[in-house]
Amino acid sequence: MEDTMGQFEAVTYFFEKAADLNGLSDSKKAVLAGTYRELRVQVPLRRDDGSLDVLVGYRIQHNGARGPYKGGVRYHPSASVDEVRALASLMTWKAAVVDIPFGGAKGGIEVEPRGLSQSEIERMTRVYTNQISHLLGPHRDIPAPDVNTNAQTMAWMMDEYGKRHGYTPEIVTGKPIALGGSYGRESATGRGSIIVMHQLVSDLGLHPEECTVAIQGFGNVGGWAARVAHERGYQVVAVSDSDGAIFCETGLNIPALVRHQMETGAVVGFEGAVNITNDELLTLAVDVLLPAALGEVIHAGNADKVQCKIVVEGANHPVTPVADAILNERGVLVVPDILANAGGVIVSYFEWTQNIQQFRWHEEEVNLRLTEKLVESYERVSSFAQLRGVPLREAAYAIGVQRVAETSHLRGYI
Ligand code: NAD
Repeated sequence: MEDTMGQFEAVTYFFEKAADLNGLSDSKKAVLAGTYRELRVQVPLRRDDGSLDVLVGYRIQHNGARGPYKGGVRYHPSASVDEVRALASLMTWKAAVVDIPFGGAKGGIEVEPRGLSQSEIERMTRVYTNQISHLLGPHRDIPAPDVNTNAQTMAWMMDEYGKRHGYTPEIVTGKPIALGGSYGRESATGRGSIIVMHQLVSDLGLHPEECTVAIQGFGNVGGWAARVAHERGYQVVAVSDSDGAIFCETGLNIPALVRHQMETGAVVGFEGAVNITNDELLTLAVDVLLPAALGEVIHAGNADKVQCKIVVEGANHPVTPVADAILNERGVLVVPDILANAGGVIVSYFEWTQNIQQFRWHEEEVNLRLTEKLVESYERVSSFAQLRGVPLREAAYAIGVQRVAETSHLRGYI
């Protein structure tokens, strides 16, 4: 196997292994692997100086057998049709493995948002929302934040959709609390990754105080993963963002680092830590490596240098199929993205439920229900893996694929 697969091909490769484990026929596999609907839209952006940029955006719906399509919106130069397709497919298996009633979708605009002003980002978001709005609906397709989008982006999307359809907070999740967002949604993905990590660490008989963790990315997922890991007594020894990485052998003071990042806009230059490169962070001799930035960061070129015991995939698709095989071969345990970062979509489901009922839960209740859902899902995946003698990724996909295949069959799709 060569490390030349596109991202969608790679996700499909993981799907097919699980489909074979479930004994699905080739025609059923073809239906479930493919995307249901793909929309490519032009996003003309009027810049503040009066000039016009013409951007390209996508909304891709992968499978809706188990419920409304659900998935984030990403603003990034790499948000190509292939990447958005792969992420949409991952959402299908993720919602299924944690057993919430959503299908899989993803959206994105191929853009570098760092050079844009807030008003330009607002205009771009409103145009994009209009261009895809005929696919959206609180029981059809529900966007959420992803890379370079946040609660404010969701507020603009909700407002733009509401202009045509009336007040509809349940059209997006990950909204600001003041607009019907859920307590605990912002921290949910990072928190969830640590909840799952903690289950595996406990199964291995390790204690948090003796566990070192390195986290790539210090945005929504990585930042919250670092905070929650620190609160639970883990030694977070290295973190990074797009400007570089830092390392401190005795553990970083995460609350102080959060303040430093807010003041300076980056993690580098934090007092008491040494600067290292992002590549060095990935190959540190730590117990847990938690990639929480972009995809395909562990690949054929560095997988044999990875020295951790456990990889927890906070990001989507951070490990290529070739790297996955190398890590399995070397006995590195990999907690797959569709389980490790499912906390976000679980609390998005809680947010949607609260919006439909026009009712709000306390943060403690959200976090408790999140923990219950993830612990139950982890235990099912872990038992399946032990029983069938397969890695956690194959077990998670097998459970997700079986659930989607069952509902697709019952509805007459396959
Ligand atoms: P974000 O934009 O909030 O943060 C991304 C972080 O990655 C930033 O700190 C950025 O500086 C850093 N980064 C970018 N390029 C980097 C590089 N080359 N090296 C090191 N760091 C780099 O995005 P996010 O919402 O935290 O998402 C991160 C990952 O988690 C993505 O793969 C996303 O799909 C996945 N994810 C996010 C959610 C969610 O709820 N936000 C849910 C599930 C999965």
